[in-house]
Amino acid sequence: MQGMGLRLWVPPPALAAAVPSRLAQAAAADEAPAAPPLPPPRPTPAIVAGLAAARPPASRSATEGADIGSLDWTALRQAVADCRACGLCASRKQTVFGVGHLQARWLVVGEAPGEQEDQQGEPFVGAAGQLLDRMLAALGLTRAAEGPQPPEQRVYIANTLKCRPPRNRNPAAEELAQCEPFLVRQIELLQPRLILAMGRFAVQALLRTDEPIGRLRGRVHRYQGVPLVVSYHPAYLLRNLPDKARAWEDLCLAAAVAAGDAA
Ligand code: URA
Repeated sequence: MQGMGLRLWVPPPALAAAVPSRLAQAAAADEAPAAPPLPPPRPTPAIVAGLAAARPPASRSATEGADIGSLDWTALRQAVADCRACGLCASRKQTVFGVGHLQARWLVVGEAPGEQEDQQGEPFVGAAGQLLDRMLAALGLTRAAEGPQPPEQRVYIANTLKCRPPRNRNPAAEELAQCEPFLVRQIELLQPRLILAMGRFAVQALLRTDEPIGRLRGRVHRYQGVPLVVSYHPAYLLRNLPDKARAWEDLCLAAAVAAGDAA
């Protein structure tokens, strides 16, 4: 929590690696009990409706004629790098595919690359990313693809958009729809035990809902059968100190789910 910038620290239910079962107790005891999956998607405005209506593009240069759903990691990364399916390809420096170990148990999904991510080609490397890394480290988790850690301590990080929107504007529905098959395939290939959706656009893309995060967090949702926990975007947390404590609760719930201690 110190790493997250919170001065007053009530010991979290546990620091995951050591005592995952205590995390489960805490998840059950606080306001974040496991709950039944979301009801079926319902019609929602703008972004969500745009996503639902959109179809994958007829062609994407490198994958023309190919089914994204059949690509392996190498081919998928190349398809993203070559993608020109929306206007963001004109302004990007490079695509930002994702980072982490391919056997990671956790998948963190964010929104879109910012300036530094566009420059470095890796998600969450700016200030928000540093906060995210500190939050993950507090649970003994790492985005590192190399090293001695077992899969349960590894996190894969990806975004809903693989290209930076100019001036960090919000993603457009059309852009999200065009990019979505890449994230879907990443999830299929990774087969995470737990998805942590951070921020409005990740949540909207995966759960097809425009419910506010405050109403969705604190329970376990499902994406294609995979448990999904909702939390605030790290960039938002940098500006909203009180919600850091809630985000910590969300991570504790996610850790309990990933450890198999909460449904
Ligand atoms: N915000 C995101 O959602 N993703 C990034 O990669 C960086 C900032």
